Amino acid sequence: MANDPDVVVIGAGFAGLYAIHRLRERGLSVHGLEAAEGVGGTWYWNRYPGARCDSESYYYCYAFSRELEQEWDWSERYPGQAEILSYLEHVADRFDLRRDISFSTTVVSAAHDGDRWVIDTEDGGRWTCRWLVTAVGCLSSANVPDIPGLEPFAGEWHHTGQWPHEGVDVAGRRVGVVGTGSTGIQAIPVLAESAGHLTVFQRTANFSIPARNAPLAPEEAAGYKADYAAIRELQQASTNGHPFVVSDVDTLALPDDERRALLERAWERGGLRFRAAVRDVLTDPAVNEEASDFLRSKIHETVDDATTAEALTPRDHPFATKRPPIDTGYFETYNRADVSLVDVRADPIAAITPRGVRLESGTEHPLDVLVFATGFDALSGPLLRLGIRGTGGQSLADAWAEGATTYLGLGVAGFPDLFTITGPGSPSVLTNMPTSIEQHVDWIADLVVHLRDHDLEAEPTPEAQARWAEHVREAADATLLPQAASSWYLGANVPGKPRVFLPYAGGFARYREMCDAEAAAGYPGFALRARQRAA
Ligand code: FAD
Ligand code: NAP
Repeated sequence: MANDPDVVVIGAGFAGLYAIHRLRERGLSVHGLEAAEGVGGTWYWNRYPGARCDSESYYYCYAFSRELEQEWDWSERYPGQAEILSYLEHVADRFDLRRDISFSTTVVSAAHDGDRWVIDTEDGGRWTCRWLVTAVGCLSSANVPDIPGLEPFAGEWHHTGQWPHEGVDVAGRRVGVVGTGSTGIQAIPVLAESAGHLTVFQRTANFSIPARNAPLAPEEAAGYKADYAAIRELQQASTNGHPFVVSDVDTLALPDDERRALLERAWERGGLRFRAAVRDVLTDPAVNEEASDFLRSKIHETVDDATTAEALTPRDHPFATKRPPIDTGYFETYNRADVSLVDVRADPIAAITPRGVRLESGTEHPLDVLVFATGFDALSGPLLRLGIRGTGGQSLADAWAEGATTYLGLGVAGFPDLFTITGPGSPSVLTNMPTSIEQHVDWIADLVVHLRDHDLEAEPTPEAQARWAEHVREAADATLLPQAASSWYLGANVPGKPRVFLPYAGGFARYREMCDAEAAAGYPGFALRARQRAA
């Protein structure tokens, strides 16, 4: 029936594309609704200078198709935004996904009417379906700080997650960047190359590890292709969905010189592998302090001016308790005469003026272009923006007033037949996301097929959800992760957002086993009910 498929999938990034493919393959009719004009999600929106992935190319991709793995050639260790977008466009074409997606279509509400989901879009469209699958991403709601005066700013301003497709001309201009998370750390060195002057407004100094990006040599790429079976196995058995074996070396038991040599080797190899090279780095404060200190010393070795180096040195959170950025020439950028660092923790931004940024001290920094690399209302934000209402008209916003809770990150009590890919409470952002996404989609597809075959509807039981929320909290508390007070993992970057540790920190492999056990036991954490068809 027109506008009434079995399943509506919201979003057409890595998650939405695979969900459409998989559910179609399982014999369901599916339609995708996507706000953007094209596929790609993160890689459609984040076109800021320097945007590229931190997962390595050979595994920042789908694993579901052996043919796709073999036919796609990555050019670099970490591909840039345009290349990842081309890959996702290729996937959409290869699996003929676009025919089932409406683009430029933003969902503004989704209400369960007792039998079906009724979904309204900004352009006045309406869709109905039995199962609603959200693939809206964890990092897709741009967080632009509510600083007074943005409206009359005479220059141009942009959030990195909504970067203009035609690019932004920064050549010779006075550019300001607010934010030194993964995005700011990628964008700052590239912006500095062409800006007349670059001013970085830093609130929290960050650790960063050199990415050591390089072209992917043909023999290296061929090696990965030949090895994919083993690579995928490693990913499935890992904590973070990356194909790295976490070191089993007890670093603290090593003599000082060997410990330093181990960290130096990891530093030279670069990238997120650094974290895997240090056993217990996220659970043992002494191990973490050793690694943190090593990274701090690298900042002081790299940055010429001692005061700037110290301002760039993180001292308020242990390494990797905030998502660790990786960079290409980040700290080196501060040795340029045309780059300055402003500590906005010491002297916060008071207002944007027509000329630029004014600090509480009254100092004004005149700017032509202001870049907000200020992150996202992560995990729960994109879901709350959907205006979801479940049984009895209860809104998701009310259900999550004290913080987002789900069962397995995949469903919410009171919201029947709603499935949330990489929802809060799933390992999502703590993993290589395509790996988690495929596992979630496969699991959801199995459940939907089970519901279809038995004419059932499903929602998590409140008890299972409460147990899962407790487990998510315990898993985070077993690590050092909650020690980063300003982390978006905790919702701390968005004023007024409840402080709840959002992703599941218990590890991907463990999570996958729990999901498998749930399915094998006949979904005991879900209330499965015979469908109540509307008369
Ligand atoms: P997204 O790609 O965010 O797609 C969600 C889609 O839903 C978007 O297209 C959006 O327009 C759409 N949508 C949202 N709300 C609505 C609505 N109301 N109506 C209609 N459509 C809607 N992860 C890694 O594992 N490794 C990396 O190296 C890595 N690098 C990253 C770099 C950047 C700059 C960013 C921002 C994130 C990065 N991530 C990385 C995380 C990244 O988000 C995921 O890897 C992955 O791309 C998420 O795919 P997704 O389909 O779940 O969500
Ligand atoms: P982020 O990590 O949340 O960083 C935002 C930055 O903006 C922080 O430095 C933050 O400071 C600052 N900020 C926010 N509001 C501010 C305000 N009002 N005044 C001053 N400073 C403010 O966001 P992000 O850098 O976009 O990264 C988000 C996530 O996206 C990453 O952690 C990662 O998961 C993903 N990502 C990945 C890649 C990659 O893999 N290649 C690249 C980019 C992004 P505080 O720290 O003090 O809050």
